[in-house]
Amino acid sequence: MSIDPRDIEICVTTGDSAGGAVVTPLVQSSLFAYPSFEDLLLGLAAEHRHHVYTRGQNPTTEVLERKLAALERGEACKCFGSGMAAISAVFLGLLEAGDHVLFVNQIYGPTLELAEHLRRFGISHDLVLELEPAAVEKALRPATRLIWFESPGTMLFRTLDVAALAELARSKDILTGLDNTWATPLFQKPLTLGVDLVVHACSKYLGGHSDVVAGAVIGPAPLIEQIFYRALLLNGGILAPFDAWLLLRGLRTLPVRLRQHQRDALTVARFLERHAAVRRVFHPGLGPVASPAPSDDANAALEGTSGLFSFELAGGFEEVRRLIDALEVFRIAVSWGGAESLVISPNRGDNIERLEAQSIPPGLIRLSIGLEGAEILIRDLDQALDRL
Ligand SMILES: *Cc1c(COP(=O)(O)O)cnc(C)c1O
Repeated sequence: MSIDPRDIEICVTTGDSAGGAVVTPLVQSSLFAYPSFEDLLLGLAAEHRHHVYTRGQNPTTEVLERKLAALERGEACKCFGSGMAAISAVFLGLLEAGDHVLFVNQIYGPTLELAEHLRRFGISHDLVLELEPAAVEKALRPATRLIWFESPGTMLFRTLDVAALAELARSKDILTGLDNTWATPLFQKPLTLGVDLVVHACSKYLGGHSDVVAGAVIGPAPLIEQIFYRALLLNGGILAPFDAWLLLRGLRTLPVRLRQHQRDALTVARFLERHAAVRRVFHPGLGPVASPAPSDDANAALEGTSGLFSFELAGGFEEVRRLIDALEVFRIAVSWGGAESLVISPNRGDNIERLEAQSIPPGLIRLSIGLEGAEILIRDLDQALDRL
């Protein structure tokens, strides 16, 4: 694992700000006045570049957007009030009735639910779980306008060959989008591998303290502009300036937090791999045996691993429930990426068909490794597994 020193600089530094403040000022203003009506009209004519109204641009949010674009090596970025708002904005901003979306890999549940709703507007989709480029190519349709992937994917953390799939899409004039929430820009830069758009749920590692819900889209300026005018400005799902300010604070510690998330998650995953009650561990850092990868190239895009992974118990819902309830340090909650370790299972006891549709085993348990230290977490898992 390595973190590019340039990325550390982007995360940590504030740049010039008024009066020598070392923290980006919070501009908690909904509107911005102009010296003349004509100047206001010029601002309104290019609202993506001017501070007119905070539903469009805001100086604090703009600093965050510049940093996220720089981290992903992208041209432009827009932030949103949640990761789902960002994903919705990509779909609503770029797709037309009659278009088809191909999802590749296990996909975040609400993203697929959103795709279901888009059927009402004439947008269809399919999901492929075979990650080889040849299998993906076979699933394409003449109407496919967008390939959407996650790598590592949701719940099973399988990685795919990002560069090969981006190239395949490009050769057929199909847009690609990758949800890069798991790796963060520090550990994977999909735009440099040929992907068109990257989205983040900033609610996870980028915020890092479980106190913000936010999202971002990064990519070429013309695409981001289209998303801005067709989706962000009209749907209004903006990131509030204060939340942008909290994210700027979160970014400053992202490199140090990720180093510990990475190290401790690998330590805990290796402990689980050796435990007799654990059938399999799904963590992309453990190599192709524990976490089946479709090819050697699949992990090539990752420059490091974060703190979210899963493991499988031999039993079903009852065993899953018993283990989760036996844990004392891990908190039982949704989401991830904060300082506190979390546990959850995709198995809710009544959704086996949904799990099967994404090939997720019923005994799966997902851990988000926080910052408490690996030793205390291993002790907790050990006592809980003993009580099964
Ligand atoms: C959490 C998450 C989202 C959605 O983000 P919200 O901020 O909760 O709307 C999208 N994709 C992935 C991979 C996530 O983990």
